[in-house]
Amino acid sequence: MKERLRAGIPDYILSLIDVLANAHHRGYAVGGCVRDLLLGRVPDDFDMTASAHPEALIEIFTGAGYKVIPTGLAHGTVTVLAEGHPVEITTHRTDGSYTDSRHPDAVTFTESVEDDLARRDFTVNAMAYHPEIGLIDPFGGQRDLADGIIRAVGEPCQRFGEDALRILRCFRFAAKLGFEIEEHTLQGTAALAARLRDIAVERILAELCKLLEAPGAVRALLAMDRAGVLPYVLPDTVPDRALIEALDALPSEAELRLAALLSRTGTAAAEALCRRLHASNAFIKQVGGYLAALAAPLPTDAYTARRFLCHHFGQEEGGLALHRALNGKDVAEALALVRQVRRDRTAVELRRLALNGRELQEQVGVPPAETGKLLLYLQDQVWREPACNRRETLISLARQYLQKENNRV
Ligand code: ATP
Ligand code: MG
Repeated sequence: MKERLRAGIPDYILSLIDVLANAHHRGYAVGGCVRDLLLGRVPDDFDMTASAHPEALIEIFTGAGYKVIPTGLAHGTVTVLAEGHPVEITTHRTDGSYTDSRHPDAVTFTESVEDDLARRDFTVNAMAYHPEIGLIDPFGGQRDLADGIIRAVGEPCQRFGEDALRILRCFRFAAKLGFEIEEHTLQGTAALAARLRDIAVERILAELCKLLEAPGAVRALLAMDRAGVLPYVLPDTVPDRALIEALDALPSEAELRLAALLSRTGTAAAEALCRRLHASNAFIKQVGGYLAALAAPLPTDAYTARRFLCHHFGQEEGGLALHRALNGKDVAEALALVRQVRRDRTAVELRRLALNGRELQEQVGVPPAETGKLLLYLQDQVWREPACNRRETLISLARQYLQKENNRV
């Protein structure tokens, strides 16, 4: 395992460690990158912790020719640009008391890397590595990695009480790594679940999305359900076991999986919940769009496939996946039809009709109030027979339509 560590630390991080060593300080790779390297995974990024105070970090790295951004001086963090990679370097610190379940009231800088590791959330995230000293692992992180266990550093209730977001991080890492949650840690999540009320909704949504996209999402959500954590994440609409288990049959896209979890609540309520979690408009639109596609009938021929594609463009494949995962429908034929009309480009949108509203009014004499309805009629005709999408044909179809309407009156 340890050879993987040495081989996996990129040169730009080793150079930063050297720069610190020349200034008589120690810098370590820390947290997620050490965990991921030990697991043989490629880390998303490399974070460091160092013995130097933030002002000293700025001076040392600026002096060595690096660009340094003071991203979080109060918490001891600076970002150093190393060969184009932004590397967060945080002074070893202990966190003071917490009054809001989220932010330490004060942080204290310390000389000891072990003290810094003690403030971290889980044993597997509380390891540091230095190329000459080796792995620093005071809480048995390596053992828990080998055993597949998420375990809080220290007393779980105290740690979740300090920062309730750790409750969701616990399930998220279990989902991401496919790990079990150690019994006391799990009990801690149940005991402190209500503290999630203190956490900003944006952070809750961000954790939820990462969890939903992780390979072990179903098991983690079931564990959250048993621990009583779900109501603090999805208030009013706690999904049942069958809905949660259906996620395994869906692609791992957060919006799609969230749509599945909220599928019994109705589109409006689902969108309202996303809004309460301060999701972006694009996110809300995607979730609502998936639920609309789920509510629509499955396409059975080219015409209905064109209509489906037009009405649910961007959510067409996810929508079909929902039909399959939640309603047990065989969607193979529908999917083939939808892909075919997408390739043919025969699912003509209104703006691609060969005749626009103004032309309809001028050429056929349609009153403005009737124009929208008539355009939709023409579009429907084009979906039935794409060859109709020619100006002359549409004009004559429009005339026939008006004639019929007049005869009816
Ligand atoms: P990911 O691969 O998802 O980024 P990560 O472990 O790098 O995983 P980050 O959120 O980037 O997670 O945090 C970096 C490190 O900082 C963690 O590994 C952990 O040591 C520490 N950490 C982050 N958030 C907390 C927290 N809320 N409480 C305690 N320690 C934390
Ligand atoms: Mg990270």
